[in-house]
Amino acid sequence: MKQGREWSRKGKGKKKYQNYLGGILCLGLLFFFVQGMLLLDGTFLKMSEEFQKTSPVWNKDTVKEEALADSGEEEEQEVKKVAYLTFDDGPSILTPQYLEILREEEVCATFFLIGQQVEGEMVDVVKQAIDEGHEIGMHTYCHVAEEIYASSESYCMDLEKTKQCMEEKLKIEPKIFRFPWGSKNSYVQGYKNDVIEHMKEEGVDYVDWNVSGEDSVGCPSPDSILRNIRKDYKRYNDPVILLHDSATCKSTLYALRGVIRELKADGYSFGTLSQRERPCHFGE
Ligand SMILES: [Zn+2]
Repeated sequence: MKQGREWSRKGKGKKKYQNYLGGILCLGLLFFFVQGMLLLDGTFLKMSEEFQKTSPVWNKDTVKEEALADSGEEEEQEVKKVAYLTFDDGPSILTPQYLEILREEEVCATFFLIGQQVEGEMVDVVKQAIDEGHEIGMHTYCHVAEEIYASSESYCMDLEKTKQCMEEKLKIEPKIFRFPWGSKNSYVQGYKNDVIEHMKEEGVDYVDWNVSGEDSVGCPSPDSILRNIRKDYKRYNDPVILLHDSATCKSTLYALRGVIRELKADGYSFGTLSQRERPCHFGE
């Protein structure tokens, strides 16, 4: 019996111990269950946040930002940068080489011609320039300052002669002209406005420039021409660049491809002057 009591006591003690263990186990499980739920909840929250951050569809802010970025791109695309290359004093024996570079680079330019040089085979070269999409403007007939700038009448006569020459030999009616040495030269100041008004009545406007290669001054190198253009063209979305098609200066020819490629790399396309939205006049 003693032994039986002993057993029974031992048995009761064991049961208590088992109940006690069971309780701890339950609490433990409960604890882990709650922790697990919290963890899961946190993970879900994080996943949800992450999803919202990365989803282009569900996150309203992202959609807004993307819409703004898109509209920004559109605004940038709307700013068109067009450069206008202009060559005075041609045609010359170098004109075919200018045309070749322009053709290879697929850009158009404007040539302000000296009427008396449109002779012989130069007529065909200029016709080729027209066929290839370049614009022809009037510069002068003889380019001799003392003759053309002697008076308002002599200047207009010189231009009229140039106009007739182009109509007869090239079958074109030029819409633009450029004063030799520009509209601010000292020869023409006394009667410049008379000339401008007279030509306006004939539907012809004058054109100056806002960027110069300075290729008719001294003895320029291709590098100096490029540098002169580089220092100014960025100030304009529509630079009008003065260059010369002159047999005496090959530096312009050697500089031309570099000029075109630099402008292209900077986002400029090229056009002819009649396509420009605003006139290019000094002081306006
Ligand atoms: Zn000139």
